[in-house]
Amino acid sequence: MNNIVVLGGTGSIGTSTLDVIKRNQDKYSLFAVSAHKNAERMMQIIQEYAPKVAVVTDNLAYEKVKTFVKDNRITSTEVLYGMDSLNAVAKADEVDSVMSAIVGAAGLKPTLSAISSGKTVYLANKESLVMSGKIFVDNAKRYKAKIVPVDSEHNAIFQCLPQKEQERIGHCALTEAGIRNILLTGSGGPFRNRDLSTFNEITPEEAVSHPNWSMGKKISVDSATMMNKGLEFIEAKWLFNASVDDIKVVIHPESVIHSMVQYIDGSVLAQLGKPDMRTPIARAMAWPERIESGVSDLDFFSLGSLTFMEPDFNRYPCLKLAIEACHTSQALTTALNAANEVAVYAFLDRKIKFVDIYKLCANVIERFVKADDSCLESILEIDANARIEAMSQLERIIRG
Ligand code: NDP
Ligand code: MG
Repeated sequence: MNNIVVLGGTGSIGTSTLDVIKRNQDKYSLFAVSAHKNAERMMQIIQEYAPKVAVVTDNLAYEKVKTFVKDNRITSTEVLYGMDSLNAVAKADEVDSVMSAIVGAAGLKPTLSAISSGKTVYLANKESLVMSGKIFVDNAKRYKAKIVPVDSEHNAIFQCLPQKEQERIGHCALTEAGIRNILLTGSGGPFRNRDLSTFNEITPEEAVSHPNWSMGKKISVDSATMMNKGLEFIEAKWLFNASVDDIKVVIHPESVIHSMVQYIDGSVLAQLGKPDMRTPIARAMAWPERIESGVSDLDFFSLGSLTFMEPDFNRYPCLKLAIEACHTSQALTTALNAANEVAVYAFLDRKIKFVDIYKLCANVIERFVKADDSCLESILEIDANARIEAMSQLERIIRG
């Protein structure tokens, strides 16, 4: 039995993970699940899955869940509160593996806690790698933790690597393995064909309606700006120990190929599948074996044609910004991630325009070019300062 913790169990990835667990109850036992504000969904999870521990990090939601468990005389699940509890369950002795599926920088500490106690970490929370990739991969080696990528592109790349490299995620030797480059695919989001002169009018509803994938709101907006692909570029650099020149972004609107690896002999290996996160989740959880995910077969006869194009940086300036930050330093990628989180939520709250997301991020990160990023404390400081800077930029944009 694999005793698993699902961080961010109430989210989109969390829900897909629980579904895969339900289909494979002979192999996985749910030790703990976390929620932040969604008390209702956590109550359903407790009833349906009976985890040993339920951690709720929002105070109001915690009180609701605690009362629910008490009123219904549920004794199989213990309800705990707060980030410290989250960090503790992620490293509990009974735990074998941790699904890291909290959104944003909040996922960093519990994921690092799992890595520093040698767990197998199924990594969906890309933001933690964007902030502190070096610390992650160094700690994974030091504490013999295993990182398995869940993000569909990185999971696809993982599947296209030779086994030796799969076994040393974070420390791959791409050249030694005969790999020329990594081809990171992205759909181009909902605005791939939209007239650039109308970008000023983009609404949150339009931005979150992704053509192929159903995801949380933040990552959906990131897909529309292609900041998501930029964050994934940085994520790929750390996971596969790739240089920035080893990674190429390819727009592939159909989202059938989830990414590819090009070898020196001219071979290109690709992973294909339906756009359903249960496939990479199941692949990560079962590796090196395979399990049922609930995803139906790809029907090649109804696919039509697959198309590919180069990204246009005028349309996707956030992608360019992220690649440039990746070239420069972890200080810049951390500041970019923080600024982007502030900007995206402000856009969703209709405080700023879609096009302001890029402007805000670009203005914030230039202040962190010389920031020290040598340890976790300094990275957390950059993250905090970049959020303060982003808030003041936000005020400036709102005031006009
Ligand atoms: P969702 O918004 O659907 O879910 C986010 C989860 O994080 C929820 O469980 C939420 O709790 C929890 N959460 C939010 N804020 C906090 C906080 N401050 N402290 C603790 N927990 C918090 O996001 P997704 O599932 O879409 O994404 C999760 C991660 O996976 C992200 O990093 C994303 O980039 C990555 N990812 C997602 C993909 C997808 O298809 N969805 C694909 C590839 C990567 P609650 O809802 O209870 O408030
Ligand atoms: Mg992805």
